[in-house]
Amino acid sequence: MTGLQEQIRPGIDRIQPYVPGLTDDELSRKYGLKRVIKLNANENALGPSPLALKAIQRELAVLHHYPDGGSRLLRDEIAEFHQVTVEQVLVGNGSDDIIKLLSETFLNPGDEIVVPAPSFSQYNFGAAVMQAKVIQVPLGPGFEYDVSGLADAVTDRTKLLYLCSPNNPTGTYLRHADALWLLERLPAQVIVVVDLAYNDFSNKPDRLIETPELLSDPRVVALHTFSKLYGLAGLRVGYGLAHPDVWSYVHRVREPFNVNRVAQRAAAAALEDVQHVAASQQLVYESREQFLSWAKRHGVEAIPPEGNFILMKTGDAKWTTERLMERGVMVRAGFAGLDEYVRITFGTREENDFCLAQLEGVLGQVAEVQSHNATSVISYKLPPRSVSVGGE
Ligand SMILES: *Cc1c(COP(=O)(O)O)cnc(C)c1O
Repeated sequence: MTGLQEQIRPGIDRIQPYVPGLTDDELSRKYGLKRVIKLNANENALGPSPLALKAIQRELAVLHHYPDGGSRLLRDEIAEFHQVTVEQVLVGNGSDDIIKLLSETFLNPGDEIVVPAPSFSQYNFGAAVMQAKVIQVPLGPGFEYDVSGLADAVTDRTKLLYLCSPNNPTGTYLRHADALWLLERLPAQVIVVVDLAYNDFSNKPDRLIETPELLSDPRVVALHTFSKLYGLAGLRVGYGLAHPDVWSYVHRVREPFNVNRVAQRAAAAALEDVQHVAASQQLVYESREQFLSWAKRHGVEAIPPEGNFILMKTGDAKWTTERLMERGVMVRAGFAGLDEYVRITFGTREENDFCLAQLEGVLGQVAEVQSHNATSVISYKLPPRSVSVGGE
């Protein structure tokens, strides 16, 4: 195709298209496996909220009607849940949508965003689309937040600063006091986007939370998602809480029907499903203990996890991931600067058992390869239950 190179906006050719992991279908075909355990995308091992499923069923009969473009019912529920006004709530097609909307609203070419590194890649994507510059501030020792480093990275071109707590992929969290310290030092033009996708899995008393005081700061945007705790990743719903002035501009670039009607109803129902929420949290707490004690017993370095996943140092992460795939377990690797770490999403008890047994086998294989022995053929048995979800 001639000429297209000259027609596209500057910078578009430098954006790397998102490469999702193999779907479980592709994986099964490639390795000849009947079932795979999907522990690579921080999804909810218990599946979707049963109340959400009922709401979805009821909504199917009216799919010929457009959704409420203002998502009023869902926003009312969220406002009540968080004790804020409905004008402080914006919902999106996943919180990914809101990150892109914030980028489109605030970023000009040459503007800067400040992000911790490593962190969630969507922040950088939003900047790349708008030709803004990404200033990465490495996390400190133990992948703890370096708030003075973040403060130092801010210039008069900084428009957005992202804080992800607990952070994906490290699982470390930001202390509330440290966030306040940082806010005190930031100029008025910096919007601070606090991504709390995993915050409800943490019970650290000193963790960052969105107090009314924090939300009254016109620079603060807090992001939440229905993809993790509520088990609705496939529906795509997220929301942000911020000063109504922020949303008054973001609304201008939002697609008029950015959240479909099934998603709106399902999310509203999921928010009320206290049983599903409590069970999901409980499973994560137990999984955390299981993985940490396994890591300790096997001398594997694990980062204390505050989300529904754990980052572990297993040596060559790409190799480990491929060996685990052959054994029917999908985990995630390939994070910038983390060549030796894999991120494993917590599954059900049975899935965790199976995953750790396979990991043990794979790490044993490493020792074998290192001593130049031929790799043996490993036989294994799949657990009784496995999550079957496509996509990323
Ligand atoms: C999964 C995740 C989200 C949620 O994204 P959705 O678009 O709502 O599915 C947001 N932030 C982080 C850090 C995440 O890991």
